Amino acid sequence: MASADSQALKESMQGHLFFSQAKSSSLATSHDHYRCLALAVRDRLLKNWVDTADTYTREHVRTATYLSAEYLLGPHLENNLVNLGLVEAAREACASLGLSLEELIAEEPEPGLGNGGLGRLAACFQESMATLELPAIGYGIRYEFGIFRQQITPHGQVESTDPWLAHGNPWEVIRPEWSYPVQIGEHTVIGVAYDTPILGYGVNTANTLRLWSAVAPEAFDFASFNAGDYTRAVLRKMQAETLSKVLYPNDELDQGKRLRLSQQIFFVSCSLQDMFRILRGQGLEVTDFHRKFALQLNDTHPAIAVAELMRLLMDEYGIDWDTAWSITTASISYTNHTLLPEALETWGVELFEQLLPRQLEIIYEINTRFLRMARIRYPGDSQILQRISLIEEGPQRRVRMAHLAVVGSHHVNGVAELHSTLLKQNLFADLARIWPERFTNVTNGVTPRRWLAVANPPLAALLDEAIGDRWRTHLEELQGLAAFADDSAFLERWQAVRDLGKQRLAQYMRRELGVLVDHTSLFDVQVKRIHEYKRQHLAALQIVERYLRIRAGEDLPPRTFVFGGKAAPGYALAKLIIRLLVGIADVVNMDPAMDGRLKVVFLPNFSVSLGQLVYPAVDLSEQISTAGKEASGTGNMKMALNGAVTIGTLDGANIEIRDCVGAENFFLFGHTAEQIEQLGHSGYHPMPWIEQDPAVRQALELIGSGYFSEGDRELFHPLLASLTSHDPFRVMADVADYRRAQNAVDEAWLDRGRWARMSLHNTMRCGFFSSDRSIADYAERIWKVGRVPVQTSAGAPAP
Ligand SMILES: *Cc1c(COP(=O)(O)O)cnc(C)c1O
Repeated sequence: MASADSQALKESMQGHLFFSQAKSSSLATSHDHYRCLALAVRDRLLKNWVDTADTYTREHVRTATYLSAEYLLGPHLENNLVNLGLVEAAREACASLGLSLEELIAEEPEPGLGNGGLGRLAACFQESMATLELPAIGYGIRYEFGIFRQQITPHGQVESTDPWLAHGNPWEVIRPEWSYPVQIGEHTVIGVAYDTPILGYGVNTANTLRLWSAVAPEAFDFASFNAGDYTRAVLRKMQAETLSKVLYPNDELDQGKRLRLSQQIFFVSCSLQDMFRILRGQGLEVTDFHRKFALQLNDTHPAIAVAELMRLLMDEYGIDWDTAWSITTASISYTNHTLLPEALETWGVELFEQLLPRQLEIIYEINTRFLRMARIRYPGDSQILQRISLIEEGPQRRVRMAHLAVVGSHHVNGVAELHSTLLKQNLFADLARIWPERFTNVTNGVTPRRWLAVANPPLAALLDEAIGDRWRTHLEELQGLAAFADDSAFLERWQAVRDLGKQRLAQYMRRELGVLVDHTSLFDVQVKRIHEYKRQHLAALQIVERYLRIRAGEDLPPRTFVFGGKAAPGYALAKLIIRLLVGIADVVNMDPAMDGRLKVVFLPNFSVSLGQLVYPAVDLSEQISTAGKEASGTGNMKMALNGAVTIGTLDGANIEIRDCVGAENFFLFGHTAEQIEQLGHSGYHPMPWIEQDPAVRQALELIGSGYFSEGDRELFHPLLASLTSHDPFRVMADVADYRRAQNAVDEAWLDRGRWARMSLHNTMRCGFFSSDRSIADYAERIWKVGRVPVQTSAGAPAP
């Protein structure tokens, strides 16, 4: 029987087909139907959205503003259905129209406005802030082209553009009335607001994600046009609009490009001007800025906010330096995401001078005052002054954005315990001596709505039955599974549910890639950006070794290795690692001797949607970065929550995951961060490690022989040369212990009961890794922003 909700949704979809899509069902495409459902759902969340804005305005609430150059949102439709409690109604409505909800959901192009973990974190945080009923605005850039699409060919990765807006975007509302000019060099660019609602789960709150799109001040230059120079007339427009055209596809690499600095000032200045508009709209004083807003910088991409807020306060509002500085430092806090030196943003002062002369002047003044203070503290120590200065001296003087962010913030946090400790010991050691109280940790988390409820309905249903449904907002209640940890009937069901996830991924691989995999084999998965520090090549070596062992007659339990992830288009070695994985897959999957024993699959175009399919299907979660390099990781959390067991190093949040789930439910290997540093001090060279390890030597030789590259002996040379000459990420120092841990995995897998218990313990004890917990921590300790439940008004128009 159709519910009232489903009947209303159905009528709403039919209405939108006519009134929004201007079609009859005879011409409607699947995408039309998707849009009709999306618009019908949007109609239902608008009331929450409008009421939320009303409540925040009326009550003059203290507001967290999250500044991030990236948001890796994933598709909205299914998440909004879950958060509105309308999944079943939508399924019925679709069925009554002869449509499949799953097919419509799959029609939504994903807004890939981020690279990887950092952008995904920003997206999880938006959803948690709404669920916790915290007044918040997310600010960023509405890139017209998000992260590139990745195709995998026999030659490796091929990139193409991602025109995610080609069919329009039913989730956004343009707000031309909220547009702001930004001066960059000699040009002015206008930022126009596009708002997307972010629904909380089970609450009335719908916060706003406000993304800026760049337009030229005038559509075209009339003077040039009238003079007959048509090209010149539109050139300005094109230049301005380039600003929000594309996302830089780099993860953990700073390229120092002019356009990137322009993007940063563009979105930061628009966001700050918008905050002043809100402030004054509520009748507050400019000097109330830090009482109204808590600004969080997601990495250094928005760090220019320190100088830009000073500029606006002084130049636009006539505030004196000292007052402006106390407002700025009382408003801003900064999250660091990496210790990798190649990822730390710096800008040449010449470029800065050209684009942002006034902001540079302000940075110089901040630096002068800062160094004057430091000189009094450390008299005669010119070394320390050089190290902490906002300006790096050298052949080319550069602005250090991380130092600007620390000096201009009241709190600085790392994203896992180890990372926060290393920040204080290494990268920011001097700054942490000056302001020890400023540095803190907030361990990352992931939202249980998208990563359990949306991604894994069979597991969600089993949890509901076993422990009730409060885990969606109180993830620590997963501990209630303890009552079933030794219940063999329940463990059977647990396995059955996990099996469904694996079957779903196996079906996808058969349908999309034509690869047949045995879903009862161990699914060994590494999905994440491709990077040397994440060491996909360590996993590749291990697969080659297994291949040789099976060929030599050894009986190993069947495994399916699954990889996914994009390499930055300019990162040759990362692309070569993909080429190696593809080459291994081609050989292994063709070899009859590997049938039913070993399979290797590289999933093209890893994304949030694909993640929702993959994370629930993982038996073994590969988290094998060089210790000290992965700030936190969040893929590790998504997998463990869905019942995967981790094989990993003592790095990032792996350490905290292991502490939670217990050492007996985690496969640990490798050097610690401290030992890795020691290796460096004692003149690390990979050769001695290789010489005493015949298995890895054989694997390296096989790769070098052209076995995985159709006889081409040169292809993998750069990768092999890196591994055998300097091995910057210490692959060879960890390869033997990794093998030992993998052998322990084989043994554990043979005892299916034991594996099911380990899996259950991972889900049961990972409640800590909810982004609700992270956000509650930011809100309480750093932002001082409190809950504001949204009152719903009576008289909203019915959808
Ligand atoms: C979670 C997530 C990541 C981050 O994965 P790590 O394993 O932490 O690097 C990257 N990409 C997508 C699409 C994700 O969902």
